[in-house]
Amino acid sequence: MKLKQMLAICGGIVVASICFLLYLTMDMAIFPTKSATIQQEFQNNQWLHFENRLKKLESSLNKNHNDVGEIKQAIRQIIAPEDSHPLGNIQEGPEEVKHDFPPASAIIYNQTCSISLHQTPKNHVQMLELYEDIKFDNPDGGVWKQGWKIEVNDNYWNKQNKLKVFVVPHSHNDPGWIRTFEEYYLSQTKHILNNMLEKLQEDPRRKFIWAEISFFAMWWDELDNTAKNIVKRLVHSNQLEIVTGGWVMNDEANSHWLSIVHQLTEGHQWLQRNLNYTPTSSWSIDPFGMSATQPLLLNKAGILNSLIQRVHYSVKKKLALEKQLEFRWRQMWDSKGSTDVFTHMMPFYSYDVPHTCGPDPKICCQFDFKRLPNHGLKCPWHIPPVEINDRNVAERAETLLDQYRKKSQLYKTNVVLAPLGDDFRYDHSTEWDVQYNNYQKLFDHMNANLGLHVHAQFGTLTDYFNAVQKEKSLGEFPSLSGDFFTYADRDDHYWSGYYTSRPFYKRMDRVLLQYIRSAEIILSLAHISGLPGSRLIAEKENNLDRALTEARHSLALFQHHDGITGTAKDAVVNDYGQKMMDAILSCQSVIQQSANLLLAGPGADDPTTDTIFYNIDDVKQTQDTLSEQYTITIGLELNTKKIVIFNSLTINRHEVVTLIVSTANVEVLDQRGAPVVCQVAPIFEHVYSLSTSKYRVSFIAKVPALSLTSYVIRALSDNEIPRGTITSKVKVYNLYAELQKPRGFENINVSPSASEFSIQNSRIVASFNKLGLLKALKTGKHTYPVHLDFARYGARRTNERSGAYLFLPDGDAVPLKIESTVVKVIEGPLYSQVIVVIPYVVHTVTLYNTTGADGLGLEIQNIVDISKTSNFELVMRFATNIKNNDLFYSDLNAYQVVKRKRFKKLPLQANYYPMPSMAYIEDKITRLTLLTATSLGVSSLRDGHIEVMLDRRLNQDDNLGLGQGVLDNKLTRHLFRILVERKTQPCQAQSEDHPSGFPTALAHIASETLQNPLLRLLRTEDEDTVSHSSYSHTSAEFGIDYVLAALKTGIFVKNKEYVGMILHRKHLDTCFMDQKSLEQFPSAMELLILKIYYQRHQRIPNSTKLH
Ligand SMILES: [Zn+2]
Repeated sequence: MKLKQMLAICGGIVVASICFLLYLTMDMAIFPTKSATIQQEFQNNQWLHFENRLKKLESSLNKNHNDVGEIKQAIRQIIAPEDSHPLGNIQEGPEEVKHDFPPASAIIYNQTCSISLHQTPKNHVQMLELYEDIKFDNPDGGVWKQGWKIEVNDNYWNKQNKLKVFVVPHSHNDPGWIRTFEEYYLSQTKHILNNMLEKLQEDPRRKFIWAEISFFAMWWDELDNTAKNIVKRLVHSNQLEIVTGGWVMNDEANSHWLSIVHQLTEGHQWLQRNLNYTPTSSWSIDPFGMSATQPLLLNKAGILNSLIQRVHYSVKKKLALEKQLEFRWRQMWDSKGSTDVFTHMMPFYSYDVPHTCGPDPKICCQFDFKRLPNHGLKCPWHIPPVEINDRNVAERAETLLDQYRKKSQLYKTNVVLAPLGDDFRYDHSTEWDVQYNNYQKLFDHMNANLGLHVHAQFGTLTDYFNAVQKEKSLGEFPSLSGDFFTYADRDDHYWSGYYTSRPFYKRMDRVLLQYIRSAEIILSLAHISGLPGSRLIAEKENNLDRALTEARHSLALFQHHDGITGTAKDAVVNDYGQKMMDAILSCQSVIQQSANLLLAGPGADDPTTDTIFYNIDDVKQTQDTLSEQYTITIGLELNTKKIVIFNSLTINRHEVVTLIVSTANVEVLDQRGAPVVCQVAPIFEHVYSLSTSKYRVSFIAKVPALSLTSYVIRALSDNEIPRGTITSKVKVYNLYAELQKPRGFENINVSPSASEFSIQNSRIVASFNKLGLLKALKTGKHTYPVHLDFARYGARRTNERSGAYLFLPDGDAVPLKIESTVVKVIEGPLYSQVIVVIPYVVHTVTLYNTTGADGLGLEIQNIVDISKTSNFELVMRFATNIKNNDLFYSDLNAYQVVKRKRFKKLPLQANYYPMPSMAYIEDKITRLTLLTATSLGVSSLRDGHIEVMLDRRLNQDDNLGLGQGVLDNKLTRHLFRILVERKTQPCQAQSEDHPSGFPTALAHIASETLQNPLLRLLRTEDEDTVSHSSYSHTSAEFGIDYVLAALKTGIFVKNKEYVGMILHRKHLDTCFMDQKSLEQFPSAMELLILKIYYQRHQRIPNSTKLH
């Protein structure tokens, strides 16, 4: 990624949002030197919280302007030390950083970030408002079926007013779909690129664009130096343009924003290293609906212009009628336009040649010369193209020009873009000849006949954008905010099925992202630690760096719009799965090596070996099975096991960690050897039996931000009395059979009848019905009905049915019939849990009793298996009495939240939206947030309701090219958290008509910890007297509003390598925060006040409690 454009930070005292901060090398304030005593104090008091911080902040802000100045100054010092460079000089920044170790600080601070919450930014087009306006009536428009009959006044063009036409040849290469990435490369892509090298050289007027760097990099590695130099020349002479420059053309619905950043960074870094090139235009013709997060990330990566294609046909028509198909795409909170990306929306049905020259596909098809006889492709409109010659050129040119002129009527300028390509085009050299030669003849004729008032030529995408912006300034184009979900290409064919298709791999994608993030962070920490081996560990030639690079490539590849979407053939899906599994193993290797270095373990000075010091407690047998935990075998002979916990987040964590141990007779010791409270529970293997060789041992791990902390689990002898170990209370309802009770659990209470019951922690009481399904939540004095159930959709009995892409339900969802279930309830001091086995789902609800993020809501795990069903789509639903008035909120790419409205004028499937991380419904008092660890489809189909799709099994193809149904369903683990929150006071985070939503502070924290669980590392050596028991960085606690998105070694800028960091400050809705939560989860501001207080008084406030 082009770094200088990423180096923007939103600062100031006001709550800021959605901006990037990238430190080149380390910030002294965050990773201070050893002399920084205050930070050491912080470290010694990791768990300090202090009361009334907000009150103090308010009074200090009100009373004393000096205080305000001091806070501002302190923030500036933290974010931008006096000697740092203003944004304009960033380019110089890296040059001055010496490669001394540890690297010096160079921090960039940008005050230009604008966020508007209390006033809704006014834009020419706001997508939710546009949805209110559109009728969605789909009348027949004639040759342009989804539009209207375009009239052209031939006298409009004259000498001064010429039409400028840019024909942009392109080839859409999917890195995996019907074939695997490598198969496509060998069978087609390689030939396309080889042909390009040869054919572009034949005529300097020829142009070509390329998007997917994954393929380009693979091809480059096979070129000799002469060929590489030709490529460089073609790029720098603008005959070949690299568009977007991502590793793939990413999906925009399911991809996490950080994965998009990864795939862009991999591509852009490759281009920097090999071609010294950064793309300026983006090309996204095939992803199935467009996210508003994408232009923001493109903007930060240096992209100025973007092109999009797959947008709802009614939206296209509406924008075309208003000549608003070109707009400045702006973020919903942006009042100044600093996030604008100039965007061109293609007007017609497809990106193929019949739908790109003008409104009439029957005519445009005649100008796809690959469809000449004997090239293996035909026009479905039955009029084939003809070779252009002197006799027909005049007629042919005028026929084509008429289409160009009609197309130009939909835009504000006299410049026309006519893409010329399709999937895997130009793989035969004859195709280059027929397309380029015939078009050149047409151009020559058009340009020579001045009376036609046209200039036509081959162009790159940027050639087109430059010509448009030469005619009209950016300010003359409308601004637009919002996104383009849910896509429909025709009729009621809404592409909302792919939000959920192949959820097993959507989950794996997130697990891999979390591992890459953790591995990059811990490797960077090891690298900058200055400890023995730290130099070596991040070296380019080191196997760890190579493993991590390959892992990033696998994650980037899966962001492809047939990867994470679940829309590839079975064999291709398995190939992605194997690549992701290998990548997870690579990350685990990096994590355990880095942990050993940071703990100064044996062999830490030589981190290049393949020695396994720790097993990560998360193993998979094969790519398509669920991950499992190790069973830690301890007993009389070998009675202890050391566990190291890694916290990759920048908040201190107090969360329950669970291990599987071979005996229930254990205790858990902290790093000083003192026992900690632990809860032991039996494991149900089947409905009627309990394991006698495995037990769950849980304790609260206290791990500071960006730290490693170790614990020891110790088996006790028979006559030893455990200190702090508590056996869970177990009840089984509705069981007639005998239950074999393992030793230590003789008191299990088995009842032959069903019963309603509840479980609770210090915040929440959760009540369940006789089936063991949630029916209400109580927090404080307030009880909220929350009825959980499961339901199914079926497929229609018509020819057009649901498939991998499309969701075409046969009606409303039908509740699953659950007549009776065996309900198991486990209760103890650290957590309480309810387990029920219902058809297709093992449903487990856990309520943790901690002061950490896991204690904030109810955790739901569903292990789903629909492999025995047929045309079956499973949903989980929540019914509440929240009066959300048709409104609900869902996120985009786990980055921002957008307001949705349920429209009666749209079919059910159109009201489904992507949910990469969260959705919520709210009224004036209450909000229910559903958090997910996997990207899935979500909707609110009735007031007070929210439903999420869990898996889909579809017996047929949905006629979009895949050629198969979705029948490879896997046993899939879904993780959710639900939070019910009540406004603490009359408070509004944003104006009522604001199109954005914002997560509550607690929902944000619960989501971050759900996505980034504490990692459990099991020491392989039984005797290790060398390793330290913990590693901790001073003051790594940033406050809950800051997310350390990435910290990575090997960032390449101007021929040098750096450690790079992306810090994301999120705007959070604090209207739901109470005093207790504020203390438990301090924001950056509160931590800062504490620091200032300390500096002034040289003591911590009286009200501070040490935990
Ligand atoms: Zn594609």
